[in-house]
Amino acid sequence: MDKNLYVYNTLSRKKEIFEPINPPFVGIYVCGPTVYSDVHLGNSRTFISFDIIYRYLLHLGYKVRYVRNITDAGHLEGDRDEGEDKFAKKAKLEQLEPMEIVQKYTIGFHDVMAIFNTLSPSIEPTATGHISEQIEMIKEILANGYAYEINGTVYFDVEKYSKDFPYGQLTNRKLEDLLEGTRELDGQDEKKGRLDFALWIQSKPETLMKWPSPWGWGFPGWHIECSAMGKKYLGETFDIHGGGMDLQATHHTNEIAQSQACSNTVPVKYWMHTNMLTVNGVRMSKSAGNGFLPHELFTGNHPLLERGYSPMVVRFFMAQSHYRSTLDFSNEALQASEKGFQKLMKAGETLNKLKAENESTVNIEELKNNCYAAMNDDFNTPILIAHLFDAVRIINSANDGKEKINQTDLEKLKLVYKSFVFDVLGLKEDKTEKSGEGQLTSDLIDFILNLRLEAKKNKDFSTSDKIRDELTKKGVKIKDTKDGFEWELEN
Ligand code: AMP
Ligand code: ZN
Repeated sequence: MDKNLYVYNTLSRKKEIFEPINPPFVGIYVCGPTVYSDVHLGNSRTFISFDIIYRYLLHLGYKVRYVRNITDAGHLEGDRDEGEDKFAKKAKLEQLEPMEIVQKYTIGFHDVMAIFNTLSPSIEPTATGHISEQIEMIKEILANGYAYEINGTVYFDVEKYSKDFPYGQLTNRKLEDLLEGTRELDGQDEKKGRLDFALWIQSKPETLMKWPSPWGWGFPGWHIECSAMGKKYLGETFDIHGGGMDLQATHHTNEIAQSQACSNTVPVKYWMHTNMLTVNGVRMSKSAGNGFLPHELFTGNHPLLERGYSPMVVRFFMAQSHYRSTLDFSNEALQASEKGFQKLMKAGETLNKLKAENESTVNIEELKNNCYAAMNDDFNTPILIAHLFDAVRIINSANDGKEKINQTDLEKLKLVYKSFVFDVLGLKEDKTEKSGEGQLTSDLIDFILNLRLEAKKNKDFSTSDKIRDELTKKGVKIKDTKDGFEWELEN
């Protein structure tokens, strides 16, 4: 097990050495999607970031239980229990049952995750499947005096809680500062404190999704589901809890409060948050209406897109920025990523064909150590990718005969490449790129270049030059190698 892994903990605001509570087991909980609409590319970024984290922990040999929930009930439009129920609203709009909405968008989410080559979580629990666990937890919070009931709705008492625990610790904010950011209560409000939030909400006659409880018919508040399901599957304190940064101030702050108020336990050792995908500097979100759907990106069918990009190019584009940095979407950035991705894949193919020499002029041990050092530094994928391009240079130089690599180093290089490019970054050959027209073009260029090779062998240099010039004019970059040729399309 690697003892040098450092992870940035939102709670302590620093990088900490990763020491699981019960090694070799690691428990991770990531807040999953709210399945009332399609997942956009921003949501996908968060899930891809955690997929890479999950993959790296598996690569290091940990036995990981990765829980990623599905929010399929109890999510009102406002962060603080205001507005309409998102599922009910969508169900009315699409003239479907709320559970048909849940089913439709859960399937859509799974499809997107599969297209992006993310590994399935170990457990994918739903809020509606864990109503009794949530009710039990609310009962305990009430019994401990940190909640109160008014007309069938149960509120968490933030003021009472913050006398015993630091409520805003996750975002390092004091209660007074948090209060400043909220609106005054008016006569319409039942709750006692401005920061109080609902653990259980009484249903109205028209509410579609409701369950019986000790407080009458109703449905759970949004935050309690993750506390209840995290505890059920990972225990009262588990290793990593993640989600997008937008969840820190309310959802995760309230999760910590619920767990401490229920069993006086700190629920999580390392809090990890991914930064946002933005479009022209504005956070991509369902409500802002600036969310690309993954299929729009693949087909290029969106006003902001110049053309389509394949799923693996998009995944590579995401891995090129660190998960804690914002990532701004642009056509130029995606085109650069496409080039980089193709280089990486091509070098992988060349690597498989490389022949070992008797000696080595390259330092593969250093390359390997650099790759581990990058990932051990809080999963720094952009630095890892920079080192993988060092590997690409080594592979191409060895292929051109400018460097030599012996059998041991060749095996080591193949293992480094496989581990980091495919197992950890989760990239794979892009099928779409090599199907249909793309495949035909590729086959035709190979065919023409083989004709050129034959012409050269027959010393018919005028034909060989003509083929080279014509293809170059059409944007095919040709490189002559020891064994024949390599080519790529210029962008
Ligand atoms: P939601 O379905 O809106 O509950 O979001 C699912 C996950 O995606 C949460 O962890 C969010 O924090 C995350 N998320 C939402 N918008 C973005 C974005 N623009 N960039 C990255 N992650 C996001
Ligand atoms: Zn959650």
